[in-house]
Amino acid sequence: MTRKQHISECTKSRYHDNKMQEQMTTFKLITDIHMSWPERVWCEINFKHLNEYFEGTQWTLPPPCAVCTRQIHDTEVMSIIVDGKSSFLLLHMLRVTDPFIIQNCIIHCNSAEFVFGCKALDSLMLYKPALHHLPRGNICLDICMQCHSCLSKGTMPKFALANNLYRGCLPSRFHDLTWVEEMVCA
Ligand SMILES: [Zn+2]
Repeated sequence: MTRKQHISECTKSRYHDNKMQEQMTTFKLITDIHMSWPERVWCEINFKHLNEYFEGTQWTLPPPCAVCTRQIHDTEVMSIIVDGKSSFLLLHMLRVTDPFIIQNCIIHCNSAEFVFGCKALDSLMLYKPALHHLPRGNICLDICMQCHSCLSKGTMPKFALANNLYRGCLPSRFHDLTWVEEMVCA
């Protein structure tokens, strides 16, 4: 082998070694990436968590309070069954005292707004949609914790309708009025 041929062979061999080294490095890199790649998330897990997210982000208001009509997010509402033994709540302080309302609703029965079909509740200033009739003539009242606490202590709840906050019934087309607008109209 001549010197020229020897040099040529050496160059070829070095080129071949470099090529092999390059391929090995690439292979190692691909293997490393493959090993560190996160595992595939299955559809069932995706849907399960999507469902949990959907349910967890639903804005659900509690039922309205029978005493103050308010629906406050994240407030506990108690369901009180009225069966004639609920005097501990001192509901009598919610009795209608306005002469005009007594005349129209109680005496002349022009409106059944404060008639609930239960002797213990009739003529109390309560919000009708928050009362639910149960079997055997009992009635269930939804009452927010704030009103319940006040009534249990014998004090008038601050936001009770009976605390001079009743402003009558408005036609459905006025239901988006604010409280101040309603009072101005009244
Ligand atoms: Zn209330």
